Amino acid sequence: MKKNLGLAAAVCLALAAPSPAHAARKLRIVTTLSDFASLAETVGGDRVEATSLAKGYQDPHFVEPKPSFILKLHDADLLIVAGLELEIGYLPPLLDQARNNAIRPTGKGYLDASAGCEILDKPAGPVSRAMGDVHPYGNPHYWLDPENGRIIARAVAAKLSALDPDGKAVYEKNLAAFEARLTEAEARWSKAFAPFRGAKIVTYHSSWPNFAKYFGLDVVGFLEPKPGIPPTPQHKLEIINLMLEKKVPVVLMEVYFDRKDPDFVASKTGAKVVMIPPSVGGVPEAKDYISLFDVDVGAIVRALGGS
Ligand SMILES: [Zn+2]
Repeated sequence: MKKNLGLAAAVCLALAAPSPAHAARKLRIVTTLSDFASLAETVGGDRVEATSLAKGYQDPHFVEPKPSFILKLHDADLLIVAGLELEIGYLPPLLDQARNNAIRPTGKGYLDASAGCEILDKPAGPVSRAMGDVHPYGNPHYWLDPENGRIIARAVAAKLSALDPDGKAVYEKNLAAFEARLTEAEARWSKAFAPFRGAKIVTYHSSWPNFAKYFGLDVVGFLEPKPGIPPTPQHKLEIINLMLEKKVPVVLMEVYFDRKDPDFVASKTGAKVVMIPPSVGGVPEAKDYISLFDVDVGAIVRALGGS
């Protein structure tokens, strides 16, 4: 009997253990985007386990909610979101059902990664949420600027240190190592893009304003007439004329769209279609935040005539 009581007490203690440091278990991180999961794993190392709801090959605006997401959110110590309403279509009902106050926007385990990042396309006037505009509060694809990646990684390190003070030194060391690798990679990417500064491109969705600004590309138009609205015949004609007039050599498209419209526009203009992932895991080679940029930079530079 005594033995059984001891076991029961041990189970109770394990269930009641307040912090991961005492429970010797990993900090559970759920992110909406795979990019944030990659950064969280890089900074958190062995002390964390991170999982993303959206996969890198899925449109991050339109993620299909699954029952398994509710369980993951229920068990999470930390939730990292892009904010700017990127997740408005699926996350709020999941959070309601997950019943985990710690990871709600007011909880200590909630991190909006947009805080502190450079956000482009911010609305000048009141937000009306005009039909189809899925970017009402500014462009939510800001993680595609490596300097924003640096800011997000720092925010993750600060948040992990707050949730798990025993790991602070580890998080700071991992962050420093990441920043050093990123700085080195930025030099490599800038060198690759140097001959193509100012190159004109058209993109399918407006996923790339931060990327384009950072690398000096000139986005002259979009296949979508508005973010979230599929190309119309009229708009495709306008884009073809624009591309011919401005001699645009590249149509950039995200891996989760259909190639039909980009291929059509390219066939009328002689441009090349570059299909690349905007997120980690969008193709197998984009296995973490830095290799994502290696893949994307490499594909665009090759299409522009570099090597
Ligand atoms: Zn978008």
